[in-house]
Amino acid sequence: MTDLADPEILSFSAELLEHLGGLIESESDRLLALLPKPLSRELDLPEEIWLGSGAAPLRYGSPLLDRLIQLATREVPVAYGQIQVPYLKKEGFQQLLGQDLIFLDSLVRVTGRAEARATYMVLICRYVAMSDERKEGLVQVGLQEGTGAVVQDFIELWDQAYPLFFPLGQVPPHFPERLDRAVSGGMHHAERQVHENLADFLKSMRRRLQRDVRNTREYYQALQAEMHAGLSHPALTDAQKVERMAKIRDLPVEMARKIEDLEQKYQVRVTVSACAAFRFLVDIVQLMVEVKHRKFKRSIPVIWNPVTRRLDPLICERCGETTTRIHPVPRENTVELLCDRCSRRKG
Ligand SMILES: [Zn+2]
Repeated sequence: MTDLADPEILSFSAELLEHLGGLIESESDRLLALLPKPLSRELDLPEEIWLGSGAAPLRYGSPLLDRLIQLATREVPVAYGQIQVPYLKKEGFQQLLGQDLIFLDSLVRVTGRAEARATYMVLICRYVAMSDERKEGLVQVGLQEGTGAVVQDFIELWDQAYPLFFPLGQVPPHFPERLDRAVSGGMHHAERQVHENLADFLKSMRRRLQRDVRNTREYYQALQAEMHAGLSHPALTDAQKVERMAKIRDLPVEMARKIEDLEQKYQVRVTVSACAAFRFLVDIVQLMVEVKHRKFKRSIPVIWNPVTRRLDPLICERCGETTTRIHPVPRENTVELLCDRCSRRKG
């Protein structure tokens, strides 16, 4: 087994250690790290060390890489707050069905209304795209914690709702502890946003790759033509001719190798990681909505959100995606509520 470190692990480690205050010099198969004292203690390493080989191997499963991953995923800082509004909407919800939430092929009506509280999260994620150039930035996702539905307007509006932040140690117990679904849905949404933000960057890397590949091909075609023409030179001995022909035969392989190097150079690696979160306990209106589709009837909870002043989107019951267009689809004795895409796939 080779002792060489994976380039991705090296770049992850270099980036993380720099982020944590280390000074890094990268070589192709290892890193020279100068670590601040607390970090060196935390990692149980000397302050100056070569990482990636010898005493500090960086491989999948190596204790050092495990420690680095633990550092990278250490709990993100979270601030907790509360949003209370002086007045919660009392009526007019029926009109919002058909406006904020569209139920297709069905009759919907509000059958109940209660004032309650729900929790929301603003998840702030950092992204880094590494290629021939490096690009980084932040994206934010608003989430209803209970369902994991993305409530994107929330991120623009929460600070206008005058939240009060809870001091450390005085956070009320209303915030759910298990957030896997909300956070994984939020990260998924963040990744999509990152790809939208990076569209121009990805395009420009693709364009540069195409340009360099085209230039490489032209260069090798010209070289091949020139070498062919040179073969007829009268001063060439037979041995020299044989040698040149072998060189000409090798050109396509050499060109393919160069193109492969270019593809590596312009390949874009994107990492998205959560870096902070705000969580809010919010006064809301909890509605019960009856959905009637053909002979089927079903009641579902819907939230009116005072921050966005809209009904929160729902979650597709098949794929978990956030949706505001809901297709009731009969299943056994009831209806499933699906997004556009899943409803088309029902087959
Ligand atoms: Zn779906």
